[in-house]
Order: sequence, then C-alpha cells, then structure tokens
Amino acid sequence: ALKAGIVGLPNVGKSTLFNAITQAGAESANYPFCTIDPNVGVVEVPDERLDKLAGIVNPNKIVPTAFEFVDIAGLVKGASKGEGLGNKFLAHIREVDAIVHVVRCFEDSDITHVSGSVDPIRDIETINLELILADIESVERKIERSRKNMKGGNKQYAAEVDCLEKVKAVLYEDKPARSIELTDEEKLVLRDLHLLTMKPVLYAANVSEAEAANADENPYVAKVKEFAASENNEVVVISARVEAEIAELEGEDKEMFLQELGLEESGLNRLIRAAYVLLGLDTYFTAGVQEVRAWTIRRGTKAPQAAGVIHSDFERGFIRAEVVSYEDLIATGSMAGAREKGLLRLEGKEYVVQDGDVMHFRFNV
Ligand code: GDP
Repeated sequence: ALKAGIVGLPNVGKSTLFNAITQAGAESANYPFCTIDPNVGVVEVPDERLDKLAGIVNPNKIVPTAFEFVDIAGLVKGASKGEGLGNKFLAHIREVDAIVHVVRCFEDSDITHVSGSVDPIRDIETINLELILADIESVERKIERSRKNMKGGNKQYAAEVDCLEKVKAVLYEDKPARSIELTDEEKLVLRDLHLLTMKPVLYAANVSEAEAANADENPYVAKVKEFAASENNEVVVISARVEAEIAELEGEDKEMFLQELGLEESGLNRLIRAAYVLLGLDTYFTAGVQEVRAWTIRRGTKAPQAAGVIHSDFERGFIRAEVVSYEDLIATGSMAGAREKGLLRLEGKEYVVQDGDVMHFRFNV
C-alpha cells in the first residue's frame, strides 16, 4: 500500500495530528492489507461520489478507499550527520511515497520551539537541508561505484556518472532532486537510490485553534504559501489541536462543532484528499448490491492490474471489464439506463482505468 510520511521538527504538532488521524480511525476490518503498527495510521478517503452511487444501487454497505500515514518523529537539525537517531529517521522517510511536512505557524509561549522562535521558513529549510545532505551522500556513494565500474570501459556507466553529477550539482545548490527535469533513462539511474528530495511534498501549516477558520490572517501561513508556491507545492492549513478534538466526535456532534468553528469540513479531510493527489492516486468504483466501494490505483494503471487491487485472481484470470464513467452512470440513473444509451463499454487488457470509472470485471477462475 502507498504511504505518506509525516515529518517536521520537534514540537510542531506532528503527534497531535497523527493522533487525530488514528482517532478518526478507519474500519480496519475493511482493510486487512493495511499495516498494523503504532506508527502507521489508516485513513479513509472521503469521496462524495460514493454516496451518489449508493443512491443508485442501494447497497448493504459503502466502503471508501484508504491509504496510510506514517508518523516519522525525531527528525532534527544534524540528522544527516547521525544526530538524534537521525539516520534511522531518514531511512523511514526513504520508505514512504510522499511527504507531509508539518510546520509550526502557531504562537504559544508554553510550547518550546527547538530554535527559540516561530519561523516556518527557517524550519522548512532546516528539514529540507537534512534531506538534501542525506541525498548528497547517497549520490556521491553511487558516483564512486559507477566510476569504478566505468574503468571497465562500459559506456553505460559513463552516462550514469553524468546523470549523477547533474543531480549532485543541483543538490549542492540546496535544491531538491525533484526540481530537476529527468529523462526516462535518468530516472532509471536514480530509482534505486530512493532519494528523499525526489518524493513529492506538501506542507501542513499548523495554526492555533482560534485561527482554524480564518488562517488567512496568520502571517506565517502567508509565508509558507509563498514558499510552497515557489516550489510548485501545495499547502494545507490545519489546526492539529482542533483536528484532535474533532476526531473524538461523531455524527451530529461533529457537525455542530465544525459549524461553531466556522468550518465546512474537517482539516483532516482536506489533508487526506491533498495527500491522495500528491501520491498520484486515482479512484475507481465497484457498485454491487453487496457493497459500493472505492479502490485506489496509481494514475495510469491498466484494467488487469486495477482488478488485481481487489484480488490477485481477478488480475490473473482477467478477460474484460465493463466500464461506465461515474458521470454517465449518474446522468442515466441506472446501469440499465447506461447500457441502453451505449455508455457501458467493454474494455480489454490495454485499457487505462480513469478516475471515477465504475468497473465490473469478468475473469476466469
Ligand atoms: P511533535 O513534536 O511535532 O510531535 O509535536 P506535538 O504534537 O507533540 O506538539 C507539541 C506541543 O504543541 C504539544 O503540547 C501540543 O499540544 C502543542 N500543539 C500542537 N498544535 C498546537 C496548536 O495548534 N496550538 C497550540 N497552542 N499548541 C499546539
């Protein structure tokens, strides 16, 4: 399963946010493939389309799709030099597919800031520098190896060294590896390095309870947004403390609390959706009377592999898929209606599943 890692300096609100995530808690029986680990929280992806589909099909149950957040605490200045268990935490970041970088935008004299004052841009740059330093080490080690291999006269290694030198130069300018335009060959060279600064990032600006609904007035948030925009990254403004309170509530209580705060929905929902997009994920649906369910695929996945998300047998024995887009199904109001209008398509092995497709797989057992 794909994972987003939560990183940030100490005392910025990571644990508070992570606790809200685990409190909000996905129904784990629905997601047996998910990791059971105190540092991993499974979140359901809110999707209005599920309810609309259920309105057509009247299923016994509705199951949203889910993915995982990993709490990666302990990243400090000097981590890349092995300070404060630094290297261990960097290794954890290597295993995630995207990074949610929490930055402190709240003032509170009772809560110590590791650098003595609130300054989100300095904090972001502190963490980013550690990630860049760790990547420089990985790249330099690989350059050495490739140079040795090059002595055999193999041209492939010369190209490898060129690519690595290009990345190294960018890292030395304090820029992340993701800022480099790479050819497919170059991507291949870098793939096994799992560079930390290659992973997509979004910033979660943690504001105080009072500012949860009107964070636009918070000057720190404005700075984070400006910084993120310069990197083409997203910012989700969230109050971790508020989210922790919301996560304890359900149903009407939750609605009322959100209304009191002047929020349309929880910040957690916004964060989950933003992280889902960041991970490069799409959703397709199955809609039967047993259940209407959302499934996660990487963007660009073909029909058999998409079927394999449900069960490996579906992929192995894949014959064809019946597909109707969510919009077409809602517009016609029923499967039968979609079929009559010719909107129910038969697709084969090469079909690239689109976000919102409602799929029915035919397979051999
Ligand atoms: P971590 O070290 O990044 O995991 O930070 P924690 O989640 O443990 O938070 C550090 C402290 O800051 C805790 O005492 C939190 O209750 C507090 N905190 C987190 N978010 C907020 C906030 O929005 N406002 C205020 N005043 N305190 C917060």
